Amino acid sequence: MPELLIATNNPGKVAEFQRLLGDCGWKLMTAGALGIELSPEEPGETYAENARLKALEGARLSGLVTLADDSGLEIEALEGAPGPRSARFLGEDAGFDERFARILADMEGLESARRWARFRCLIAIALPDSEDARLCEGEVGGMIALEPRGGGGFGYDPLFYLPQRAATMAELPERVKDIVSHRGQAAMQARWLLMQMLYERKGADDDAA
Ligand code: IMP
Repeated sequence: MPELLIATNNPGKVAEFQRLLGDCGWKLMTAGALGIELSPEEPGETYAENARLKALEGARLSGLVTLADDSGLEIEALEGAPGPRSARFLGEDAGFDERFARILADMEGLESARRWARFRCLIAIALPDSEDARLCEGEVGGMIALEPRGGGGFGYDPLFYLPQRAATMAELPERVKDIVSHRGQAAMQARWLLMQMLYERKGADDDAA
């Protein structure tokens, strides 16, 4: 089975990709398992730029087809913050309790109609011998809850309320998050690209035989 590097240091993302793409014909590998170190820098201004840079770096270091994800939370009343800087909001070492408290304080008194937010996810897939990457995108709309709730998921999930499910993302069973989430949506497109790549590889192998 060909190997696919999941280029992230975030264990929450690794677990989700394992569920989302673990059965699509590629063996998912982590940087740790391959003994390579990924840079924590995210120099781009956009999710797409960062996802692309992470995928190209992973492919160069590992020699494998590489998938990277850049994602974040955008809150309408905070003009799209924390956005692509979600992982560094209040500093890289800030805890999520601290981040939740700041967001809730900044939004204090705002009624439901002003609490809209969305999660966005950009996935990039790069080949080791290319300077280019294919992009897949997903997003999910919701609201900033009045307080964090739920023990599932990771990151900002406890603060992200889905009115259509009457639950925060952290209260959803994993299989439901996988269907509705920004990463689930982007991963569906990624799955398609990865299966196409397998098919092309098989064609090339058959031609060589
Ligand atoms: P990055 O993509 O590594 O820059 O980090 C994305 C940031 O957004 C991290 O702080 C994550 O915790 C957060 N984030 C991304 N996806 C999710 C999600 O599915 N749930 C909760 N937080 C997320």
